[in-house]
Amino acid sequence: MSKVTPDDEKDEFRAPPEKVEEAEKHFRKPTKKELAEAQKYTQTLLNMLATGARLTNEETELAVSVRNEVFYRQMYEGGVPSALHNLVNCLITQGRFEEALELCPARSEELNELIEARDRDDYERCPCPTVEIEKVKTPSEYVVRKQWHPVKKVFCYLYRCKDCGNMNLVENPLPEILLYHAARMDAIAKTKAELLKNRR
Ligand SMILES: [Zn+2]
Repeated sequence: MSKVTPDDEKDEFRAPPEKVEEAEKHFRKPTKKELAEAQKYTQTLLNMLATGARLTNEETELAVSVRNEVFYRQMYEGGVPSALHNLVNCLITQGRFEEALELCPARSEELNELIEARDRDDYERCPCPTVEIEKVKTPSEYVVRKQWHPVKKVFCYLYRCKDCGNMNLVENPLPEILLYHAARMDAIAKTKAELLKNRR
């Protein structure tokens, strides 16, 4: 069990003592210490980007968001209100949903959805059924994007149910959803190849 820090004390949600160990396995609001550690990591990524290191698309997006955050914050604090959304987008890319919510309550619906998705158990799913479309088992959930998780320091999969809108942010996506995702990407690639062929 990890030490209880002053930040943890302030958390609104505290599991009963006997459940703490179990609860700590799951996602929860990142503490200031965890966020500071995560920011050190993203700063390292930014330094790597500046020296020409080869990063993945997701790592590049994350590193750029660290740089842009400074820029948009200066703009916003300097009196350009329209810079707020870009600043909030940078925080979302870094998984800093609570800070984004504090800055921009107007986007609370979107941000609370992300917080709930992060805190939901990886294996929790909505009851919407999987159907078979053209011999492909098609779950109701699809992968929206990869999302950085500052506490776990990994890119998680964000998925959403097309029927009920339920979202979950998971480290290990269910094989069924990954298989469907692969089939979907394959179909998109084939369609693109067809279009190119016909254009010639
Ligand atoms: Zn659903």
